Amino acid sequence: MTGHIIFIAVTLAAAGILAWSFSRIFRIISLLKKPYSIANTGERIGLLFKNVLGQKKILRFRTAGIMHALVFWGFLLITFGSAEMLIDGLLGTPFDADPANDRIFSALGPVYDILIAGGDIFAWVILILVIAFLIRRNFLHVKRFSGKEMRHRDHKDATFALILILLLMVSLIGMNAAYVAHAGADAKGIFPVSSLMAGLIPHNSSLTIEMFMWWAHILLIFFFANYLPYSKHFHVFMSAPNVYLSKTEPLTKMNEMESVTKEVKLMLNPDAPLPEDEGEPERFGMKDVEDGTWKNYLDSLACTQCGRCTSVCPANQTGKLLSPRKVVLDYRRRMEEKMNGLLKEGKSYQDGKSLYPDYTTYEELWACTTCNACAQECPVNIDHPSMILEMRRYIFLEESKAPALINAMSTNIENNGAPWKYSAADRFNWADNLKIKINGEEKDVKVPLMADKFAEGKKPEYLFWVGSAGSYDEGGMEISRNFAKILEYAKVDYACLGTEETDSGDNAKRAGNEFLFQMQAFMNIEIMNGYEVKKIITCDPHDFNTLKNEYPDLGGKYEVIHHTQFIKQLAEEGKINLNHKIFENKKITYHDPCYLGRGNGEYEAPRFIVEKIGTLTEMHRNKSRSLCCGAGGTQMFKEAEKGDKEIYELRTEDAVQTGCDIIATACPMCMTMMKDGVKMKNKEQEIRVKDIAEIVVESLNI
Ligand code: SF4
Ligand code: SF4
Repeated sequence: MTGHIIFIAVTLAAAGILAWSFSRIFRIISLLKKPYSIANTGERIGLLFKNVLGQKKILRFRTAGIMHALVFWGFLLITFGSAEMLIDGLLGTPFDADPANDRIFSALGPVYDILIAGGDIFAWVILILVIAFLIRRNFLHVKRFSGKEMRHRDHKDATFALILILLLMVSLIGMNAAYVAHAGADAKGIFPVSSLMAGLIPHNSSLTIEMFMWWAHILLIFFFANYLPYSKHFHVFMSAPNVYLSKTEPLTKMNEMESVTKEVKLMLNPDAPLPEDEGEPERFGMKDVEDGTWKNYLDSLACTQCGRCTSVCPANQTGKLLSPRKVVLDYRRRMEEKMNGLLKEGKSYQDGKSLYPDYTTYEELWACTTCNACAQECPVNIDHPSMILEMRRYIFLEESKAPALINAMSTNIENNGAPWKYSAADRFNWADNLKIKINGEEKDVKVPLMADKFAEGKKPEYLFWVGSAGSYDEGGMEISRNFAKILEYAKVDYACLGTEETDSGDNAKRAGNEFLFQMQAFMNIEIMNGYEVKKIITCDPHDFNTLKNEYPDLGGKYEVIHHTQFIKQLAEEGKINLNHKIFENKKITYHDPCYLGRGNGEYEAPRFIVEKIGTLTEMHRNKSRSLCCGAGGTQMFKEAEKGDKEIYELRTEDAVQTGCDIIATACPMCMTMMKDGVKMKNKEQEIRVKDIAEIVVESLNI
């Protein structure tokens, strides 16, 4: 009876403290903005199956992944037994004279036997793995466990949590063995490992040992549960909700800012009705934690500090200050510092500090290439780039302190419709004097314009969106010319916008200049909708991503196709013949552009083309693990932050290691960076850098 009362009192106290910790978290969540709609339940449940139950992302790091997945699956089984212990305890049965009869779930029969047997085996598996984790963390100096954001107390916290798990397993194993020793043939459930140990426990002390271990185990569970919200191991609770609530859109899609949309619409159409007064205007972007969304906060609570994100970050790998794990931990630490004030005074609470720049600094934020390698690798689906973008938005829109070259880029887009200082009137010059050889005969190619086609009463099936790089950058113009030759050769019904096209706004958006992005987007959408455009082809993965994923929120809904996808389609339809083994003896390595591959999942189309034409040789980092070339996220338009090497240099080293003759790319910016890398490595004589369109044109000999 006394044991039962003590158990109920302890359970209520533990549940009360846990409820208090969670109530604080929920109150903070209620203060924060909504990130996006969470309506698509089916897709989200799929994510849970894939990434939580299936541990798909954890298993991308094979050895550590298998170890972690075994611990996770084991915990699931053991939780079944823990739930039974809790219910038994509340019913008071363990405190009866005969604990052999006290197992409530035993009514499940064979299912019970299997679950209990699984828990008994996994208790040992977890025990062994936790010892391995402790050795790895404390003696093996794994690189991704270190970093400036990893404080001494974080290491102590990780070790302490592992010791708690170890004690949980020791108490569970001891309890199981003593139970079998005491209950003998009456034991409920199957204990394949503990039954081997039961003989070591004297029968007359088995009940005492069982009850001691039972109490030790249950008290450790209560303590562990209440320790978690203040530990890195809070992911035990938070990873499943965080995965369920994660972004389901393509990684490289960045959200639009509704507050900006209203103002931009007004700027473009002064006759539009004024929006209703919505009180105090919201701050643009994120300066401090209360400007974030509740997903940013959940992300920070779910972070396991595993360092996978930082280990794949191109900026971090080249010695720059940026560490995506730090960005997430900065948010958590700043929230911990400000939480009491926010709970007392609401969002107006200020303490003279802020997330940016006191925790996350200017230099860190501007080093990001928005490659999304971090988000791709994160086992709990944390979205680091969106946090970085929100802080860039604050810097650009509220502080007006973006790097000088980024300001110059924005001014160029505003004035010329391109990130460089070129005249808008020259936008279509790339199409001048274009010639194509068909059956050995050279003929002029006139790239068709939408305006001309419309004047003739025709509606071309495709719009060839050229983009700023394709219109002005030397390498980009060559890609446009090559692709136009392919379109001509395959007799595709298409047209361009010519000088009616203006910059997509992609770079402005990644710089945080959402106003300029939306201005550009609305102008382009108006023109494209005016021409009733339905299908767009583009050679630029950045514009591909923006047109496909970001324009729809602003009213521009199109089927957007990357040129590699289109060329594959033409080959499959027999409109071009890629079977020329002109590059047969050439080793071609393919560099995945982040915005095409990781961002939008297209890995196969370019490889299909390369394999048809030559011999594909993969870099050790490829497809979703591909390293960024270093140009994205506006890096192309600014000086790189301090580091020990350039990102393009590191990526070129990956390519050189393959012994390739050709580096194939599918992005004008990647091409520029890889050419710079080859030049820097003095490999220009041995390695050529070519866009897929150029390779196809050479193979078609047109
Ligand atoms: S998006 Fe790329 S560069 Fe930016 S933090 Fe993530 S991994 Fe690093
Ligand atoms: S953000 Fe994700 S990948 Fe990075 S340390 Fe945290 S859990 Fe690991």
